Amino acid sequence: MKNKKEISVLIIYTGGTIGMVHDPSTGSLVPIDFRHISDHVPELRKFGYDLHSISFDPVKDSSNIDPGIWIKMAEIIEESYDDFDGFVILHGTDTMAYTASALSFMLENLAKPVILTGSQLPIGLLRTDGRENLITAIEIAAAIENGLPAVPEVCIFFDNKLTRGNRTTKMSAEHFDAFYSPNYHLLAEVGLHLKYYNNPISYPAKEQKLIVHKAFDTNVAILKLFPGINRKLVNAITKTEGLRGLIIETYGSGNAPTYQWFLEDLKQYIDKGGIILNVTQCHGGSVEMGLYETSRQMLTAGVVSGRDITSEASVTKLMHLLGRFSSKEKVVQSLNMSLAGEIS
Ligand code: ASP
Repeated sequence: MKNKKEISVLIIYTGGTIGMVHDPSTGSLVPIDFRHISDHVPELRKFGYDLHSISFDPVKDSSNIDPGIWIKMAEIIEESYDDFDGFVILHGTDTMAYTASALSFMLENLAKPVILTGSQLPIGLLRTDGRENLITAIEIAAAIENGLPAVPEVCIFFDNKLTRGNRTTKMSAEHFDAFYSPNYHLLAEVGLHLKYYNNPISYPAKEQKLIVHKAFDTNVAILKLFPGINRKLVNAITKTEGLRGLIIETYGSGNAPTYQWFLEDLKQYIDKGGIILNVTQCHGGSVEMGLYETSRQMLTAGVVSGRDITSEASVTKLMHLLGRFSSKEKVVQSLNMSLAGEIS
């Protein structure tokens, strides 16, 4: 059993509100130098863990994070995988659920915690939520239970809740309670105690070497349906040159209009080699194709059910699979499978 000093955590600061303080000379928010993180959060010194940090340069507002940056994050984890017991990624909240989903697909056979966190208020402000989020994220990344990492998954820790990254979605631009996991149980909750829920946590069956998948194909699109959607728009998307995958955000349990032109356009796109994934615009629940006539016809046309996947996980999974496989059959087969616990 390791003692506290032997447990090491790497903090990877990518950017976002959490790492901001007021510059006294200008009054503006500026990123802090994460090499001196414990000057801003002195509580970290009390942990006793061996903490290391690395910062992106320049740091990124998460709206500017893209697959190239996911690859950089995964490479940092890959290079230092054997040297650390856990990883904390500090990230802007806006696209955190996309990054967490992407990393969950990239890091095959992950056996160590990768905990993403951030904050709604900068760490340099008195009322910040960043201090609590950072401290507990580190505690989770360092936690060992029965000699093994307590949560060997890519997760998001925010406002006292630990959720599986690829099941999580940002729901509030205002509240500290900014994320939720609509279709999957919490992995841990923090109150007086840090309570891990062992059943929903996924533990690797046996130790296998970490495999990092680094290819993404961004030739994808998301089309959100709305009453009155017109053919010109649907056509512009399905006829986009090189578009290999299209996510349709449908109504309720996966329903869409039964207009003949709509089904014809989808079928034509699929027959020409495209893949369509049906994801619900509802914030919870699952696509159930065939339950209503309005989804049965899409099933017949060859549309794939996204089941209870989040929008963030669906687009990152599709880009990941299209980057990994050239065969349409292989991509469709993998869309129907849970790769990292993203669908039930
Ligand atoms: N715009 C910021 C970002 O996502 C917001 C935040 O950090 O919460 O990078």
